[in-house]
Amino acid sequence: VGTDLWSGLLPKFVDVSKSFFARVGVQLAACSFCTFLLAHNADAQDDQTKDIAQVAGDLYVVHGDGHSTVFLVTSEGIILADPINTEVAVWLKKELATRFNVPVRYVIYSHHHYDHAAGAEVFNDTAVFIAHENTRRALDDGSATLPNNYVPRDKNGDGRIVFEEAGGTLQKFFQDVDRNGDGAVTGAELLANVRRPDLYYTDRMTIVLGGQAVELIHPGSNHTDDMTALLFPKERVLFAADCVNIRRLSYGGFLGFPPEQAIETIRMIESLDFDVVVPGHGSALGSKVDVLEYRRYFEDVVSAVARGIAAGKTKEELVQHLVLPAYVSWQRYDLQQPVNVAQAYDYLTSVRGVAR
Ligand SMILES: [Zn+2]
Repeated sequence: VGTDLWSGLLPKFVDVSKSFFARVGVQLAACSFCTFLLAHNADAQDDQTKDIAQVAGDLYVVHGDGHSTVFLVTSEGIILADPINTEVAVWLKKELATRFNVPVRYVIYSHHHYDHAAGAEVFNDTAVFIAHENTRRALDDGSATLPNNYVPRDKNGDGRIVFEEAGGTLQKFFQDVDRNGDGAVTGAELLANVRRPDLYYTDRMTIVLGGQAVELIHPGSNHTDDMTALLFPKERVLFAADCVNIRRLSYGGFLGFPPEQAIETIRMIESLDFDVVVPGHGSALGSKVDVLEYRRYFEDVVSAVARGIAAGKTKEELVQHLVLPAYVSWQRYDLQQPVNVAQAYDYLTSVRGVAR
């Protein structure tokens, strides 16, 4: 997604073209996977390459179209997280057959968003498909408005994404997604491209295959309300797409959830027992420290905005001037910081009734 797609979202006085912040995507100091990280620098995240790399033991990470997923190889088959999209899934299916010669037995969605969950039907012949209970409602939403992560792209606000607004993988697969060929993608058309799961869970679920295990954990609401974090206990690896990012800010900021709820969700993820976290975007792996820092960013935004409100600052002043120096090097800081400040301001002033 290019900067141009987001400029319409920002207040006029924020000139995103003047961004000077370094786009550093890896944190070498806190990670024991430096060799891996150096081989997968941040600049590679948005290119078209697809690759597979071992994370720990029988657990592997897949990169495709700027997105990441993981899979665990067992003697009885493969447990795969997000399929990412049809093109990646078709490629991955061939790679898995060649490298491991066992079928994909489970596909587990991190959440219902099209850019992670499309393409699962490629594994229809061998797999069972699982997601959180709230995925059911999200996919069957009769009102079928645009998912909240696509709303900012809809610059003219007509509830549909035209080709020029699409960007990223949606632009790449636009003609497939635009099922009725009317030149615009609706929320219903996006969701129609996500295969419906066979099984749903609510709180936690453990899958055992070939003597190995993965735990499906619903950490709460942050990004969407149907998030699943995948914990691989033996490998001590966590896959947490979009509800956690590594030195990177997510599209759309808090995405409609009260900051306290989003922060509590990240805190829950921190409490899990893992050493390495694999996020859903970019190629950097993270540690528990990265998750803590991601939470601290949101806490710092909320407390800095609260201080600004107490000092009599307007929303516009805070959006324009509130800088958090510890995070300016994070990916998408320049785009998402104003959004997060605005959302924190709205939350603090309207919901909690802080005096302006
Ligand atoms: Zn998402």
